[in-house]
Amino acid sequence: MPRQTDQHLLRQIPSVDQLLSHPTVADLLPDHPRALVVQGVRAIVDRCRESLLGRSQSNQPAAVQLDALADEVCLAVAAMARRSLRGVVNATGVVLHTGLGRAPLSGQAIEALIDVGAGYSNLELDLDSGRRGRRTDHVAELLCQLTGAQAAVVVNNNAAATLLALNAVAAGREVIVSRGQLIEIGGSYRLPDVMAASGAILREVGTTNRTRADDYAKAINERTAAIMQVHTSNYKVVGFVEQAATAELAELARRHDLVLIDDIGSGAMFDVSALDLPAEPWFGGSLDAGADLVLGSGDKLLGGPQAGIIVGRTELIDSIVANPLMRTYRVGKLTLAALEATLMLYRDRQEALKSVPTLALLGQSHEQLQQRARLLADRLRQVLPEAQVSADDDLAYVGGGALPVCQLPTAVVRLRFKDGRNLTDTARALRLGRPAVVARIAEDALVVDLRSLLPGQEDLVVQACEQLNGADSAAAPPGDQRSPT
Ligand SMILES: *Cc1c(COP(=O)(O)O)cnc(C)c1O
Repeated sequence: MPRQTDQHLLRQIPSVDQLLSHPTVADLLPDHPRALVVQGVRAIVDRCRESLLGRSQSNQPAAVQLDALADEVCLAVAAMARRSLRGVVNATGVVLHTGLGRAPLSGQAIEALIDVGAGYSNLELDLDSGRRGRRTDHVAELLCQLTGAQAAVVVNNNAAATLLALNAVAAGREVIVSRGQLIEIGGSYRLPDVMAASGAILREVGTTNRTRADDYAKAINERTAAIMQVHTSNYKVVGFVEQAATAELAELARRHDLVLIDDIGSGAMFDVSALDLPAEPWFGGSLDAGADLVLGSGDKLLGGPQAGIIVGRTELIDSIVANPLMRTYRVGKLTLAALEATLMLYRDRQEALKSVPTLALLGQSHEQLQQRARLLADRLRQVLPEAQVSADDDLAYVGGGALPVCQLPTAVVRLRFKDGRNLTDTARALRLGRPAVVARIAEDALVVDLRSLLPGQEDLVVQACEQLNGADSAAAPPGDQRSPT
């Protein structure tokens, strides 16, 4: 129950109608739905009430200014009118960043998205015969050509691929996995839990650091259906370690009539050590070594849309396609359009290295990055005269469940502010700006890493940094919902 003085204060709060007819707020109406503007006004009136009551408790004088409230309504409406999911500039240096949507798509993939998404498509129509087709056939043949597989199918993501493969091959039966490979990826993906959900029974063998082919052999019994190998894509055990080779496990599986499932994780299409990156398993390499089913993601090293790719023996792929769970994990036309266009680039390795953004970013030489950093630093010095700007060498992770312990040499621009402004608030102002830039903070500097900046995005970083000048948003109190514009 508000006190007497509170009643007096609360009478100062304008009504919704009063604010709506304020010229600044009325100006919003031609460009925004009335309901949105009303929602903005209500939010600001509520906030005003709370803030008045809060201040009356601390006995601070309070006065409500209608013009200031109208300005706040404008900011609130502008924030609500923006899409929540939007493009950001990745200046973190982490090329495959799950929080930032993993792989950026190639121009060719974007063209395919527009072509297929803007109208109707032959998603499940064979244009030749006019009969019903199968949606994943648009990419299956290409996947077979690129990997040497007999058959292929695509599902929603690699987690779905794993669950489906295990359910189709081993429901109610045992699957042997090394204790060194019982992985957890972020976002509640734990292999033992996925295995349980699939209906397969996990049979752990070996130890965390050493598992030999013999450990697998001893665990085989009449209930065994498969051996599963899992790439430890986000950590590495080093030191006294041993892990059976894929070829050894394939030989063992063949002798006992078991299926060898290989989850290669990052979905590389070729041996990326050719890019001066540490070796990662790739689809064709695993099939050549004798795996029966190989699983990987579409949006990690492959550089395409989110997808789970399964390649392998025809009868196994057929049983996955026939599985009733298949429909629950099926991919949409936009995924297939972007994936097919991405895969087509891999017909020519040089083309892929140039046009698949993930590969192009990872393939940048240190000299190229240093050059980009020097040029960007020069431009930022001009727009941020108050800041100390330097181009430096650094190390950054590839990220995204690929190349776990691999730190690549990179080049960065460090921003230090002499006015001692709070870096956390400054980074937040950059994230909320237009364009939105996600940078990292290290020690006393804001760090813009060139490794993950797409060609030409330097312009966007300059634009975003320009807005830091005199932006009082950088000093906004925590919890303040205003977004700088
Ligand atoms: C990333 C990863 C997964 C999960 O893949 P999603 O496509 O994100 O579902 C599964 N296994 C391994 C080894 C991975 O690296």
